[in-house]
Amino acid sequence: MKVMVVEDEADIREILRNLLEEEGFQVVALETGLNIMEELNQHRPDLLLLDQILPGKTGVEAVKEVRASNGFSKLPIIMVTGLSGEDDKVNALDLGADDYVTKPFYPKELAARIKALARRTDTFNGEGDGVAPEKIERGTVSIDFTAHRVTVSGQEILLTLTEFKILGELLKQSGQVLTREKLRERALGNLNVTDRTIDVHMASLRKKLGAIGHHIETVRGVGYRFSERGH
Ligand code: CA
Repeated sequence: MKVMVVEDEADIREILRNLLEEEGFQVVALETGLNIMEELNQHRPDLLLLDQILPGKTGVEAVKEVRASNGFSKLPIIMVTGLSGEDDKVNALDLGADDYVTKPFYPKELAARIKALARRTDTFNGEGDGVAPEKIERGTVSIDFTAHRVTVSGQEILLTLTEFKILGELLKQSGQVLTREKLRERALGNLNVTDRTIDVHMASLRKKLGAIGHHIETVRGVGYRFSERGH
């Protein structure tokens, strides 16, 4: 899952980046919200963490712009307010943020809020208002859902339909664990598929992905995760 952080204070920005990366999120950090729509279109995050007080364009103005946009009107947004007055909290929610956190924030609490919001809105996968993505790129791997084509470092990889669907689901929520249940439901279309069968598909997929096969990590007892860094 990718989180876009907008925070003008460099030290807080880096604290947020480190905290979120430790929690397994991908992070794109911006200093201002001046080009927020361009940045969203380029990076397509799953969640926006927005400081309220920013130079040039305030967090509130940025939220309004995002909410009024075509592709991101439902993007989950958490506002970080520097002020602890009730008015500001109400304001942030009234104006379209989904949640708010007051500075100074507790890292664990912030991570928990982000996860809770992500769960509540998990129909949004950085895909723009629930529309399925046509293409996803994560590191050197690229999957094109329209052309039904997978490439690694530009080289096409031939996958079975099941492998293609599994990879698609892993990449859609890269960095997050995909449970065996979700794999059955979304990729295999059959809730009765055994764990053993899933393991076989997974082994074959890893092998075909070659040098980046190890980016598909087994999360023991839970499922699988595509990690851009690999382990
Ligand atoms: Ca600020």
